[in-house]
Amino acid sequence: MGGTATIVGAGLAGAAAAWFLTRRGFSVEVYEQAHVVGGHVRTEWFRGIPYEPHGAHIFHTDHRSVWDLVSGTVEFVPYRHRVLTRLRGRLVSWPPQRAELCASADFTDIALELADRPGAVDESDFESYCVSVLGPTLYGESVRGYTEKQWGRHPRTLSAAVARGRVELRNDGCHDFFRDTYQGWPRRGYGDLVEALLRQAVVHLGCRITLKDLPEVSQAGRPVIVTSALDDFLGEAGALQWRGVRLQPVYLPETALAQPAMVVNEPSVTLAWTRSIETKWALPELHDRLGTLVLREYPGAEAKHYPVLDAAGENQRTQRELEHRLLGQSRNPIHTAGRLATYSYINMDVAILQGLRVAEKVAAQEEC
Ligand SMILES: Cc1cc2nc3c(=O)[nH]c(=O)nc-3n(C[C@H](O)[C@H](O)[C@H](O)COP(=O)(O)OP(=O)(O)OC[C@H]3O[C@@H](n4cnc5c(N)ncnc54)[C@H](O)[C@@H]3O)c2cc1C
Repeated sequence: MGGTATIVGAGLAGAAAAWFLTRRGFSVEVYEQAHVVGGHVRTEWFRGIPYEPHGAHIFHTDHRSVWDLVSGTVEFVPYRHRVLTRLRGRLVSWPPQRAELCASADFTDIALELADRPGAVDESDFESYCVSVLGPTLYGESVRGYTEKQWGRHPRTLSAAVARGRVELRNDGCHDFFRDTYQGWPRRGYGDLVEALLRQAVVHLGCRITLKDLPEVSQAGRPVIVTSALDDFLGEAGALQWRGVRLQPVYLPETALAQPAMVVNEPSVTLAWTRSIETKWALPELHDRLGTLVLREYPGAEAKHYPVLDAAGENQRTQRELEHRLLGQSRNPIHTAGRLATYSYINMDVAILQGLRVAEKVAAQEEC
């Protein structure tokens, strides 16, 4: 039992790995470049109102084990996420509901197109995928502008993988954005969850670690779990393309709730932001209290938020090359987990699962 392990990054993936290993008796040191743990999901508070400086985060999963871990670690409030989108000046459900659109004379042309869609989804690229699911007009008015703003490139240059599982047409009256069995929001925010997972580990804040720093923080041959972006970690920043967002908060002291759902999408290219977010929706006990924060999400910031899955697959090829080089150059057994190190758009439950799986592997190798 036991041993030592080094973890780079104190987001959910790194924290889940630390949680697993410390429970197995490992001595774990976590190095985090920021001055606070939590990574991308950390929640902030202003006058008792939660807001999310890196974008809305709703916990949703079908993995019972992940739900048991998070909800057994901190208190979760039941919350079913709803998203609305602006279409021809009206707010309608997102994902779109066929019956809702067909019921309104404003959308007759869209309803006719929906009846005339191809039987199979076109997987050639993002735009082809969406047009085959939504028809050209609904796609053009609710997705194309949003996507151009979000990614800063033509939707045809994005892989269909960006749309798969995210763009759909519904006809079942289900207005929950996510369909997972377990959904909720941590009552004291995500920082609370990450701090609890890291409780038994030694955390070094303000420490940016790259491959060349490993001799200082880990003995040769000891396992290292990397959750940072591999281009940064290998000292090749810029090799991978990322897309970032900037959240602009507005505090409304005289308003209890400012919008009819936590997230309102703004697909029109005449507005620079893609959506507005009111995290207060997650905590019903705050709904009647005056004072709320709405954050507008502006794409195009210098931050590593979304990997760019281009239709030609170039960035994924670069990622594979970086993974190969990393394994060849290190004197430590290196394991990767999390959205940055795997260059993938993954939800929180998958980040946690990846952290747990690499930790399990480390434990199995060290204990045999
Ligand atoms: C806008 C947006 C909205 C999202 N909404 C949802 C949602 O509603 N539901 C959901 O399930 N998922 C959502 N996600 C996904 C979710 O944010 C990720 O799954 C989660 O943050 C992944 O955690 P992680 O530990 O892999 O990465 P991170 O949280 O990024 O953690 C990595 C950590 O490593 C640190 N680090 C990086 N480089 C170094 C270095 N060289 N040295 C030391 N430390 C370093 C970083 O500072 C960071 O703290 C969303 C993502 C985005 C971009």
